[in-house]
Amino acid sequence: MSLDEYRRKRRPGRTPEPGGDAEASDAGGRPVFVIQRHDARRLHYDLRLEMHGVLASWALPKGLPLEPGERYLAVHTEDHPMKYATFAGIIPKGEYGAGTMEIWDHGVYELVEEKRDGGLTVRLDGDRVHGLWTLVPARLGGDEKNWLVIKKHDPGAPQERSERAPYAPAPVLFRGP
Ligand code: MN
Repeated sequence: MSLDEYRRKRRPGRTPEPGGDAEASDAGGRPVFVIQRHDARRLHYDLRLEMHGVLASWALPKGLPLEPGERYLAVHTEDHPMKYATFAGIIPKGEYGAGTMEIWDHGVYELVEEKRDGGLTVRLDGDRVHGLWTLVPARLGGDEKNWLVIKKHDPGAPQERSERAPYAPAPVLFRGP
């Protein structure tokens, strides 16, 4: 885990994004996650999970799958600093990731399983999304950046029609161009 790549891609003073300084997490409790809606050259969502003092990050061109068994591409990107978990703003034209970044959801998560190959199963507990997802280093097309994110059935989840159902987003929100 290193923020070197994060720093290398950005010019301080030209982007409103947080600097690439490592810092201890101040949550003290469960690790945090954030999903940002990033209206860049191509609209996508960025999933970030607090791991070892940084935010491990994946770009999700189609967002997060919501139906159990559904699997979408998750492009592993550079680790981001913890401060990025609360970042929203406009990255100016000409800068890396230029476009509007909004926080689409955030919350805490539980690391349910971590495989030796780096694969992760997490239970997200946000305002909009709840449940189990697995991130698999699938090397799609032979590229190690190309992971899959898979929605898992969560036997511990409350039944459908729970009180949380009204917060479920319309699936159309997840579909980029
Ligand atoms: Mn992005």
